[in-house]
Amino acid sequence: MRISLRQRRAIDFFQGTLAVEPEFTEVRIFDTTLRDGEQSPYVSFSYNDKIEIATLLDEMGTHVIEAGFPVNSKAEFEAVRDIAEGTRTTVAGLARVIEGDIMAAIDSGVNMVHVFSSTSDVQIEDSMHSTREEVVEKSIESVKLVKDAGVECMFSPMDATRTDLTFLGEVIEAVTDVGADWINIPDTCGVATPTRFGDLIRFVREHTDAYIDVHTHDDFGLATANALAGFEAGANQAQVSVNGIGERAGNAAYEEVVMAAISVYNADLGIDTSRIMELSSIVEDISGIATPPNKAIVGDNAFSHESGIHAAGVIENSDTFEPGVMTPEMVGARRQFVLGKHTGTHAVRMYLREEGFDPTETQVREITRRVKDYGAEKKRVTKRELVRFARESNVFKEKVKE
Ligand code: MN
Repeated sequence: MRISLRQRRAIDFFQGTLAVEPEFTEVRIFDTTLRDGEQSPYVSFSYNDKIEIATLLDEMGTHVIEAGFPVNSKAEFEAVRDIAEGTRTTVAGLARVIEGDIMAAIDSGVNMVHVFSSTSDVQIEDSMHSTREEVVEKSIESVKLVKDAGVECMFSPMDATRTDLTFLGEVIEAVTDVGADWINIPDTCGVATPTRFGDLIRFVREHTDAYIDVHTHDDFGLATANALAGFEAGANQAQVSVNGIGERAGNAAYEEVVMAAISVYNADLGIDTSRIMELSSIVEDISGIATPPNKAIVGDNAFSHESGIHAAGVIENSDTFEPGVMTPEMVGARRQFVLGKHTGTHAVRMYLREEGFDPTETQVREITRRVKDYGAEKKRVTKRELVRFARESNVFKEKVKE
């Protein structure tokens, strides 16, 4: 019912300017906050941090949680093991194409082992110090090891977007032949663009019948756009991290991919989005990476309005200057009207009434002028300042708020 209502709303709002026929209907979310997210510079999660984040991701209905890299340390192994044990969702553990890594992941009890090997020549030569032949051989052996243990296997040709296309097709076919359940296409260094990435996913589809997953990085600010282009091209799943944290400029953000898929594409994800703000705050606190105010969905300004025209419209009907297909309630956030240089009379009148004042129109205009002048000096106009302005303009509380 919720989805059909949204569908109608989208049609109403877009009025035919933007297509409303969904390019995809059902997609899945693979969260890598605890793995790629933890690889953010200066970030390290404790055992308890990992359990707290995983528990919430699980409760929200996230389809896969990549809990970590089990071979990394004893503490990492234990966290991955306990997350695999304590959650209902699919838990993945990362492994290089090395037997010890794969056995550690299998021993941790994860439902899915995520095996990766570089496939671009630059990484094969100067990171792995290996050859294309050896990469194919080790990848095949690794996928076989996982499948022999009866565990789901995801294979990632790392740096896929800078890999020789023919070789990429060969690697994908080779690991598909030995039973890889998922092929993840990582844009490891964030060089893809939506149209090119969509074309690549269609190429991959021709070389495998496994499920396709995408992993996109934000070096050019295109991570979310590329993940969505992946979905449009037929990818079944996207890897994301909460607040977009991760290596360098980070990954596609959980909140952005989830909300765009649900609100803009009307896709069915089965995720409880009302806890997105809670999830974002926990990850902000634990990671120590502050969320910028203008961050999509979860930033302080994402549902804030200051300018007079916008605030007046939103006070009358929030759909006027918000997406309409996404509301603050849907993500557990609150709409705010900010007082400052661009404020108009509607927001000032609303706040004065909320504070129990009953000003005349002349008084509202006078106080609005003071708010604008104060805001123009780059000062923050709080409710306290507003009350002070009201008193100084001889507006008194005639109605007492209950
Ligand atoms: Mn990555």
